[in-house]
Amino acid sequence: MGNVRHILGISGGKDSAALAIYMKNKYPDLKVEYYNSDTGCELAETELLITRLNSYLGGIKILRAAEDSPEATPFEHFLKASGNFLPSPQARWCTQKMKLAEMEKFVGDVPSISYVGIRGDEDREGYISTKPNIQAIFPFRRNIWSLDVINKALDNENIELIASLYEQFAPEDKKEETLTIARTPLSRTFFYSKKLNALLDLDVKLFNKVVFNYLKTTDYPVGQLDEFPLIDNEDILVKDDIFRILEDSGVGVPAYYNPIEFEVDGKKGTYSRSRSGCYFCFFQQKIEWVWLLEQHPDLYAKSMEFEKDGYTWNQGESLADLAKPERVRQIKLDAIKKQEAKRAAMSCKLIDNLDDDNDAFCANCFI
Ligand code: SF4
Repeated sequence: MGNVRHILGISGGKDSAALAIYMKNKYPDLKVEYYNSDTGCELAETELLITRLNSYLGGIKILRAAEDSPEATPFEHFLKASGNFLPSPQARWCTQKMKLAEMEKFVGDVPSISYVGIRGDEDREGYISTKPNIQAIFPFRRNIWSLDVINKALDNENIELIASLYEQFAPEDKKEETLTIARTPLSRTFFYSKKLNALLDLDVKLFNKVVFNYLKTTDYPVGQLDEFPLIDNEDILVKDDIFRILEDSGVGVPAYYNPIEFEVDGKKGTYSRSRSGCYFCFFQQKIEWVWLLEQHPDLYAKSMEFEKDGYTWNQGESLADLAKPERVRQIKLDAIKKQEAKRAAMSCKLIDNLDDDNDAFCANCFI
């Protein structure tokens, strides 16, 4: 398989953990290198998951930025360097400096395939790296390819090339139908996702074989392989599958996902943490800050200490204000209301799958 590397980033979240277990069991011959970018600011529950995974997988490479710094954690090193300027959704230097840069250093210039755990029940793309020698593959989805690959393969410019590959590989009983779709140009009514789904509906493996051979005409890392077992993958894994994989493997689900009950004014609700990442992550919802306050008061206090020189984790509200009893009460009541609305919507089947961790997405921190 040449010099191509296979890498898989373990974020500390459930989906990347399940993907690592899945890849090890389903593709034992693929030499996958597992890595984790350590910020020094993870919850103990996340660290426990990584320790257990390390035993299960037989090794995870830990990448740690600013290793020689006198500061206690990489985060504190970069925070100091930025003059206490806290990261935010608009200024995400934390992911860039502590995770992406380290991952790109780890990979270097070697062509690499990065396996990403976006699930089959999610509709989103993962930002992994813009380096051309790193190609993302999504084994849990029906479409394993990244958006850029699909856009190039299905571009009208490549119509004849893709059609010739279908001509070559399609079995007789599917030739006419697949060729008709492959030869239909993209238009305002027949756009990328429509064409993609039409081809996948006809035959996933065949589509993957065509794309794999198309990639051989490009510089993409997958195109440099003699064979790629993932092109025969037709699995689609959803949230329940992820929990099952974690439980069956003995690695277990990170404890912060477990809902904890609380009561306000006689009403009951639950809280938990919906995603991995730094304990102070600015992407967490208000109710998750309350969870941190009540379940990890030391970490809440530490997060508060980072708020200085006018910088706060949440826009317009300091953690000192958020921790006031009346504010905590209000946040809990709001959460209960949201949970009741969600239950009602689900029982009316207004929505199929409401997932709290579908927003604020980052492949490097939360998968
Ligand atoms: S988890 Fe949040 S705070 Fe930590 S690096 Fe990722 S985005 Fe930044």
